Amino acid sequence: MIDSCLMNTYNRFPSILDHGKGSLVWDIEGKVYLDFAAGIAVNVLGHSHPKLVSSLKKQAERMIHCSNLYWTEPQMKLARILSENTIGGKVFFVNSGTEANETAIKLARKFGRKISPNKFKILSAVNSFHGRTLGSLSATAQPKYQEAFTPLVDGFEYFQFNDVDSIKPKISEQVCAIMIEPIQGESGIIPATKEFLIEVRKLCDEHNILLIFDEVQCGMGRTGKLFAYQNYGVIPDVLTIAKGLGGGVPIGAVIANEKADVFEPSDHGSTFGGNPLACSAGITVMEEILKEGFLQRVQKLGDLLKNELEKMKRKFPTVIKEIRGIGLMIGMELNQLSAKEFAATCFEEGLLVVPAGNNTIRFLPPLTIKQKQIKEAMKIVQKVLEKFGGTKS
Ligand SMILES: *Cc1c(COP(=O)(O)O)cnc(C)c1O
Repeated sequence: MIDSCLMNTYNRFPSILDHGKGSLVWDIEGKVYLDFAAGIAVNVLGHSHPKLVSSLKKQAERMIHCSNLYWTEPQMKLARILSENTIGGKVFFVNSGTEANETAIKLARKFGRKISPNKFKILSAVNSFHGRTLGSLSATAQPKYQEAFTPLVDGFEYFQFNDVDSIKPKISEQVCAIMIEPIQGESGIIPATKEFLIEVRKLCDEHNILLIFDEVQCGMGRTGKLFAYQNYGVIPDVLTIAKGLGGGVPIGAVIANEKADVFEPSDHGSTFGGNPLACSAGITVMEEILKEGFLQRVQKLGDLLKNELEKMKRKFPTVIKEIRGIGLMIGMELNQLSAKEFAATCFEEGLLVVPAGNNTIRFLPPLTIKQKQIKEAMKIVQKVLEKFGGTKS
């Protein structure tokens, strides 16, 4: 039944998904899966959330798209919600994470250019992930993503994540920005330490460098705060968002404080970015996440998930190396087992999880997941661990 006229860019799981409801999805044969992938941290309200469906229907009937040559209410409203609930400042809308970062890169270059023609360098972390278009790819310091596509964009240099001493020698008048994921996602759910982010913020202030936080994966309520940086109390100059923002509808955004808000007409643009349909989705998602008790619930469920996985680690100490993460963004690093194989077996057993670098399994369920469903998922994880012959203590 799989009729692939598609480019060979993914190792897909062997079934055809058809529909979803809440934290469950069904394939065309009627098999049901618990969704702890959530479109890789996208379906924050789960599948077919009634409020999201109804706001999309309503907006589709009024106007789906309109050029950025005109003002629209959904775009103005979403920008205000994002600005007021993050770093203040101004918003630019895009359609994906990589575009959000491309925008931040251009913003940083222009910021630097206004100070000196040589202030163009951007520093990012080894094992970071910022996207796959050439600018973002140049910031994504991982040979496996970059190798086939060189030469990359000039002016990127890399430091070791969580090691401020690896940044200091790279600081000069030429650096315009430092780009960081507060919690690295693709490389295996690796949180920054608080000291590290505080030190980087200081360096940026001392040398007139913009601090860009890429919260494409760790933002949108995932950690139990609206944005991950709010767990650290370190405030960036530029914040990039995408994945969860539209709850499944493609939309991303860049938020820049007054210092970083340097674009003028014709510097940047996007045909689709911030169109009324996508923004109506973003408004609904933000309104739901900001409802009283929503984020506290994410924290509680995150603690439950992490505790259950820690228990699993005690049961299977030879197989599980480490449990990491905050809120509903949890990674389980495996010891000898391949994360890909582990995820494939979970899939067979009816659980969707995402493998990541560092031989890690990512748990990124909808933020609306039920406690009962976390327990069910843990039963499947236990079954899979037993299958792989993990020694139970
Ligand atoms: C997924 C991701 C991106 C890229 O987003 P796309 O929408 O796939 O372009 C960028 N940064 C981080 C941290 C991500 O997790």
